[in-house]
Amino acid sequence: MQQALQRDGHEEAPALQDDQTLDICIVGGGLTGLWTALQISGTEPSIRVGVVEADICGAGASGANGGFAMTWWPKFATLKKLMSTDDALRIAAASEEAVVQTGRFCETNGIDADFMPTGWLWTATNSSQMGSWDDTIDTLASAGASPFRVLAKEEVYEISGSERHLGGVFEAGVATVQPAALVRGLRAAALAAGVSIWEKTPMLDYEVTPRGVAVRVPGATIATSQLVLATNAWLARYPEIRRHLLVLGSDVIATASAPEQLASVGWTPGLAISDSRRLVHYYRPTKDGRVVFGKGGGRIGFRDHMNRSTWATALRGPEVIDQFRRTYPKLDGVAITNTWSGAVDYSSDSMPFFGRLAGSPRVHFGVGFSGNGVGPSYIGGKILASLALERDDEWGTSPMIRTPATRLPPEPLRTIGGWVVRTALRSKEAAEDQEKQPSALVRRLTHLDPTSFVG
Ligand SMILES: Cc1cc2nc3c(=O)[nH]c(=O)nc-3n(C[C@H](O)[C@H](O)[C@H](O)COP(=O)(O)OP(=O)(O)OC[C@H]3O[C@@H](n4cnc5c(N)ncnc54)[C@H](O)[C@@H]3O)c2cc1C
Repeated sequence: MQQALQRDGHEEAPALQDDQTLDICIVGGGLTGLWTALQISGTEPSIRVGVVEADICGAGASGANGGFAMTWWPKFATLKKLMSTDDALRIAAASEEAVVQTGRFCETNGIDADFMPTGWLWTATNSSQMGSWDDTIDTLASAGASPFRVLAKEEVYEISGSERHLGGVFEAGVATVQPAALVRGLRAAALAAGVSIWEKTPMLDYEVTPRGVAVRVPGATIATSQLVLATNAWLARYPEIRRHLLVLGSDVIATASAPEQLASVGWTPGLAISDSRRLVHYYRPTKDGRVVFGKGGGRIGFRDHMNRSTWATALRGPEVIDQFRRTYPKLDGVAITNTWSGAVDYSSDSMPFFGRLAGSPRVHFGVGFSGNGVGPSYIGGKILASLALERDDEWGTSPMIRTPATRLPPEPLRTIGGWVVRTALRSKEAAEDQEKQPSALVRRLTHLDPTSFVG
């Protein structure tokens, strides 16, 4: 985010001072909210659209993530459980197209977001992870799709530059981006398209009125016909969403820029890599020669406690640095310059869900990207735009408008259970990294984990 703000000059949009009337009010200036605004203004320029953002646009996960713009092909097996095979194929293909459209949007709008369509290596860093992709590939093959190419161990080493990788598969349709530059670029494009943006303007609450919705912010009210809630993990404040949403931290580090050392390692520029553990490791080289390395499955969100500074602090910084050093020992001399964290909105079935809140046909939400929202938020924007415009088109009737079948337990059981399962996962993964068998109890406990980055 620091880098992105340097690039765009960081001019803050004013906070809202006076009452406003809008056709569509979007709460949340992340990728989801801004794509929604851009979709609406792109197709219905006469509609008055406004975005209210509690902090500055990009201050949430969109400006803090690992920068993988992925597809939903690795989630195909889950998609197939949620909808017909044809729908699953269509949605997964749309997610691949979303990555293409993101790159195209950057190009057309002069957004300098380091978009690199260089693909993703889904790999194994210990023998227990080998073949983690087999079921996905088989399920895809039975539906006639083959987005992954299985690589020989030598090829994996050649493109990743690390001997820690024992095997893997490659998906060409994935890109990497400087995520904060992307979200700030969308903000600039939305402003240019006539969207009103108010930063440092938190929505306090809203009330459904006979003619629309009244959105209350400090010192003012917005009267709007339709309300879109695109506040990601902050949507945990609504019990009907919270029962399907688990908020988990992800910790990230970035190194100093060291393009020559990186080139000597042989890591394909821009190539996104993740391993196959549940507490996933994900890493990529940036365009300016840094490494960004992250680890999922960290801090467990209690109820709807979403204090910003708490979530920004990486609890496992030293552990992530250690994993990076183990994966790329040849980069030992390269300094770590940044460590941060953010909240990830895992749905109870690891796919996002969209809908209307509290039975009101005017209040729409989208949440649950489960660590894969950079590319799919483009689809989220299409769905939310169609819902707010009351369109019965492909997006307004998408199978992603749904309620996940699985309900998570209430607090404090959820946090206690989450802690037990995460402890078991850590123990299992530590054993597997030493090529040892975790105990039967540990293995059984890990099966209770509802979250998943792939699969
Ligand atoms: C550390 C980390 C790494 C990740 N890595 C990846 C990755 O590599 N690839 C990938 O695809 N996904 C990744 N993700 C997930 C991805 O970042 C998210 O899915 C995506 O950014 C969600 O966008 P969003 O707009 O829905 O949410 P956000 O970007 O969180 O936006 C929500 C916005 O709502 C605002 N807000 C909240 N409450 C209010 C309120 N009351 N009033 C007004 N505004 C409010 C917040 O300030 C915030 O700006 C990662 C997430 C994290 C945290």
